[in-house]
Amino acid sequence: MKLHFLGTGAGMPSKERNTSSIAMKLLEERGTIWLFDCGEATQHQILHTTIKPRKIEKIFITHLHGDHIFGLPGLLSSRSFLGGEDTLTIYGPVGLKNWIETTLALTTTHLSYPIKYVEVTEGIIFEDEQFIVRAMLLAHVIPCYGYRIEQKPLLGELLVEKALTLGVPKGPLLGKLKQGENIVLASGETVYSMDVTSPAKEGFIVTILGDTKLCDNAIHLAEGADIVVHEATFDAETKHLAANYGHATNVEAATVAKKAKAKNLILNHISARFLPNDLAKLLQQAREVFPTTYMANDGTQIELKNKELV
Ligand code: ZN
Repeated sequence: MKLHFLGTGAGMPSKERNTSSIAMKLLEERGTIWLFDCGEATQHQILHTTIKPRKIEKIFITHLHGDHIFGLPGLLSSRSFLGGEDTLTIYGPVGLKNWIETTLALTTTHLSYPIKYVEVTEGIIFEDEQFIVRAMLLAHVIPCYGYRIEQKPLLGELLVEKALTLGVPKGPLLGKLKQGENIVLASGETVYSMDVTSPAKEGFIVTILGDTKLCDNAIHLAEGADIVVHEATFDAETKHLAANYGHATNVEAATVAKKAKAKNLILNHISARFLPNDLAKLLQQAREVFPTTYMANDGTQIELKNKELV
C-alpha cells in the first residue's frame, strides 16, 4: 500500500500545491487504486505519475467543496478516453451524484464504463474479503466525512514441508489448508490448518480525514491507525481562525494522532499563506506533540510494508 499525494493545498491551487487529492495505491493487494478527493487538475497531477486512470476502482469524496471535487468531471471523462471499462464506484455525501450527472449530461459526456454511486452515511460503507471502510462525520462548515480503511488480517503462510510430513498429498488439499480449512486424509486422520500455517498477519489501518476542526470523530476514526492523514490549514498563530472556518491547526492534528494512539501522522491541506520556509516550523511544532509526524507535499509517496513506513 502506497499513498501518493497528488494535491496537498487548501482552498485553491498554488504553484507549490494543487487542490486536494490522494491516491491509495493497492496494486499489490488488489491491482487497483482508490482515490480520496479529486480537486481541480487532479488528472494533470496524475500525468506526472505512473497512475493509470482505468485502474482507479473507487473514489471517496470527503465533502462537496470545490477544491475537493472540481477535478472529477475531467478525470471521469479521461478515464473513458483511456479505455476504462470496469465499474467505478464513487462514495460521497448527498448531492454528489446529482452534480456529476448534471455536469456529464450538460456537457454531453458519455462514459465507456458504469458509475455506481454510494451516498455516504456514518458507519460501514464498503466491505469485502480484504477491506472494510468506515465513515464518520467530521466538523466542517458543510457535511464532511473522514474515512478509515482497515485491511483484514492476511492469511498465514502454508508450511508445505510440515504438511507433507503429516501425510497431506500435493494438490488441492494444500490450498484448502492455506485458506484456513481443516482437511481429512484418506486415512481418516484430520489435519488442522493452524498446525501447518504460520499465524495470520494483522492488516494495516489508514485514516484519511477531510476538512475539519478538532473533533472527537477524527480521534475515533484514527484509533490505532498506522497512518492518519489530517488537515493542517492553520497554525498556532492563526488558531483563532481555524475553528471559525471549520479547519484545524498543525498542533490540533498532532493532538488527534496522539489521543488516537496512532503510529504516524501526515499533515495535509496546507494553506498557501505558509511559505516554503515556514514548513519546517509547522512540522516541528506538530512533532513536539506527536513525534512521528510528516508533511505531505505534492508528489510525496508514503509506503507501508508490514505496517511499517518505508
Ligand atoms: Zn472544505
